[in-house]
This record gives sequence, C-alpha cells and structure tokens, in this order.
Amino acid sequence: MDRRQFLKAIGGGSAVAGSTGLWFFGTEAGRSPDSYTGMKNREGGYQTFDRKKWAVSNPTYDKVGPTSRADGRTDVIFARMGYLRRYDKEKGLDSFPPHVRDYYTKHPEDLELDITVRREIHQKRAEDVKKYRNEFILSKAWSSAMGAVGPRGVNGPPEEWDFPRGGASTPYKMKDPRQTSRLIKKVSHQCGSTLVGIAELNPDWVYKYPMNGGRGFKANEPIEVPEHWKYAIVVGVPMSWDPMYANPPYGTSNDAYSLSRIVAYRLTAFIKSLGYAARPHTPGASYDLMVPPILVDAGIGEQGRHSIVITPELGCNFRPSIVTTNIPMEADKPIDIGVQDFCKTCKICAEQCPSGAISKGEKETIRGYERYALHSSKCSNFWSSKLGNMGCRLCVAVCPYTRKANWLHKAALNVTMHDPTGLSDHALAGMQELLYPGQEPQKYYMPSMGGENASYRPVPWWLKTEDFIDLPDPEEPTTRSSE
Ligand code: SF4
Ligand code: SF4
Repeated sequence: MDRRQFLKAIGGGSAVAGSTGLWFFGTEAGRSPDSYTGMKNREGGYQTFDRKKWAVSNPTYDKVGPTSRADGRTDVIFARMGYLRRYDKEKGLDSFPPHVRDYYTKHPEDLELDITVRREIHQKRAEDVKKYRNEFILSKAWSSAMGAVGPRGVNGPPEEWDFPRGGASTPYKMKDPRQTSRLIKKVSHQCGSTLVGIAELNPDWVYKYPMNGGRGFKANEPIEVPEHWKYAIVVGVPMSWDPMYANPPYGTSNDAYSLSRIVAYRLTAFIKSLGYAARPHTPGASYDLMVPPILVDAGIGEQGRHSIVITPELGCNFRPSIVTTNIPMEADKPIDIGVQDFCKTCKICAEQCPSGAISKGEKETIRGYERYALHSSKCSNFWSSKLGNMGCRLCVAVCPYTRKANWLHKAALNVTMHDPTGLSDHALAGMQELLYPGQEPQKYYMPSMGGENASYRPVPWWLKTEDFIDLPDPEEPTTRSSE
C-alpha cells in the first residue's frame, strides 16, 4: 500500500466511524422525548414543585361550625344577574322569586349594587365605549380568538350524561388506584393541562341548588350529590403573562378558559371510554360545584386573600376545570406553602382592587368554613365600570405569587415557605410594593367614572392598536364584531 492509498484508507475509515458515531448519537438524542418539539408541557414538565414535601393532612382552610352548601342560584353572581331583568322598581323585592327575595333581604347592599348602580353604569359605559373603543380593537380581537373554540356543554342529568352511552356500564377493572392516578395525571398533561391534582370530593362543595337550572338539573330542585361523584380531578392551564400584567383592559380570561375546557372534556371522554362516569365542570360558568376549595383539597395550592387559589408554579395566573368521576384513584394531599401567613400581612390585592371587593380584614366564617370574604357584587360592578376586555384580573396581576419564574420571586417563595415565624413576610410584601407599584385604583375606571382606562403594567406591543390599524372615526357606527 503506497502513501496515497494508506491516507485514502484512513480517510475512508474516519468517515465511516464519524458517520456511525453521528448516526448513533443522533438516534439516541432523537429517542429522548425531550427532543420532540413542544413535548415538555405535555410531559407535565411545568408541574415542577415537589408537593409531597409540603403535603399536610388537613386542608389550609378551617372548618369552624356546622356547614351548609352554597346556593348556585343566588350565591353565584353570574346566576344572580339572570334575575335582574325581572326587577320592577314599583314591585321592589316582589319582582323576584322567593329564594332571590330571601337573598336580597339578607344582603340589601347587593341589591343596590346589582340593580341601581348597574343601570347607571351601563349608560355611562355605552357612551365611553363609543369614544374609546379604538384603543381596544386588537385586545378584543385577541380575546375573541382565545374564546373561539370550545366543546359542547353538559346537557343531561348526572345519572345519564356522566356515563358512557347515557347509562351505567361495565367498566374495565383497573389494577391499582395509585397506578390509575399516575395514568390520569399523565393523560391530563397529554390533553394540554399544566397542573393536575386529585381529591376525594367533599359534598360540602357541591351547590345545594344548581346555577340557573340547566346541565340536566331542574331549577329550584336541590342537587342530590350523585354517588359516582367520588373524586374530583383538577386541571389548570396558565394565562399568557404579558396581557395578564396589562389588566384590567387588555387581559382576557378566554385565554385559558377555552384550553381548560378542552382539557376537561378530553379527560371526560378518556374516562368514559374506560367505562367509568365522568362530568366536566368548566369556566365561564358551567359548574355544579365550588372550585377553589376543591383545588385546595387536591393539593394544587392554597386559597389567597383574593379568593383565588395560589399555586407554587403559576401563582394564581391560571384557570382550572374539574372532572368528577368514579374511576378508583389515590387522592393527593393538600399542601401548605405559607400562603395563609403571607396573605395575613400582604394586602396588595385588596389595596389595588378598584371596587373594594377584597377584604382587608380578617377571615370570616362562611357556610361553616373560615376564609376571606369576597364581595362579588362589587367585583362584578367594576367589570362594567371599565373598558377593554370583559372582566378584571387585576388581583391576579398584582399578586406577588403571579410572577414569571424569575430568581427573585423563586427565592422569595422559598423564604416564605421555610420561615415559620412569618417575620420575612412584612419585608417581602413591602419589597413587592416598592419594586412593582400599581396605579391609583381609581385610574383603572373608565373616564366617565373618573378613571383613565389604566392598565397595571404597560400594554404588550402586539396589542397596541394604533401601531397596526388606521384608526376609524370612533363616532362612526360599526358592525365589526370586536367592538
Ligand atoms: S377581579 Fe378586579 S374588581 Fe374583582 S376582586 Fe379582582 S381586582 Fe377586584
Ligand atoms: S396579593 Fe398578597 S394578600 Fe393578595 S392573595 Fe396575593 S399574596 Fe395574598
């Protein structure tokens, strides 16, 4: 072999070895699920918190007396609003059916807020919408996009609708409840959920009467908690960060509502296909039960002063759905990450809430359980007193737990979790207010109510209408759906 042939042979050998190495490592890398685009979320990669370390035997709310169930017809503002169009000033409370009359007799302030103020606000709002609608063209279009896809609703009673093919069936025999929990959690992530937890359903959280009738229940007939609502699977998906910070006018709950609904319906179909019963309870208002305490029971997080559940991964910046089912599973335990102590000190949400709906005081006993009261009529009134997208998520935006996962807030979360004295809470809440100051709450109102259409943080670049659209004359009548 001459020198040239020798070099050729070496070169050829190297090429073969190199290609073999590349082929080997490339194939190995390609086998890893981490190499698949977009797989991390579906593997549950964002549910990173080690809940077992912070598990507690009892939930972080206190049961202090005889309990009663919420009345879905009157205790839920969205259901109460349905009765308002019947109101006649002459007839007063006699305009309403007895249960609504009872509610307003006990809560006269809510009657004032739900009727009188609402009428005034709606007129002012119509004028302001005409004047300022151009500012919100893109954010409203975005909100419509986020809410465009959703599953059909539940339309039958639990003993029929919840079961495969409309009636009791013979389910597959599951080998082991713990394994089934693992499977259900994995499938929930595959369905698009970021967070998932499982609780045994406490019947206290089921409405005594259904919201608005519907979902297979008869209006004004009490709900008998079905035996097959044994477990509650909680799923949660986050809302986009930047529009969330630009609340109240630029965020939208549709962002996570639709995905959360889709996850719940997919999971329901999965469970039914195994022969078990399942029923989704999903946002906006398609529920037969109260959601926050179930999230607490399932170890997803703790209920904050603003009544929303705070999770270690996403703070309160997420929207949940629940699937009630009888597939045998091992339930999770509640967790204690120090939120109760922190909320005692921190009152940022209550101070920033434009409507004064969030309590600055101590917890109260509500239907036998202690928690911070939320004045839902005040909250809902503010929704009509501002422009931009429907609703208000300002309390989510200002809560220190709702931060992008940055080292500062991660460190703060660790400090609050490990400090049993609560001494660090004052310092951390003070720092939050100093570093991320909010607006004067009045500025969040629409101009006709003395406000400035303000948002908590700057508007994301892609929702600034004036940078993308030749603004139409606001006085011009329009039929565009985003207005
Ligand atoms: S949604 Fe807005 S108005 Fe309602 S409680 Fe939260 S901050 Fe207050
Ligand atoms: S803003 Fe503060 S008080 Fe309000 S829920 Fe969040 S941590 Fe608790």
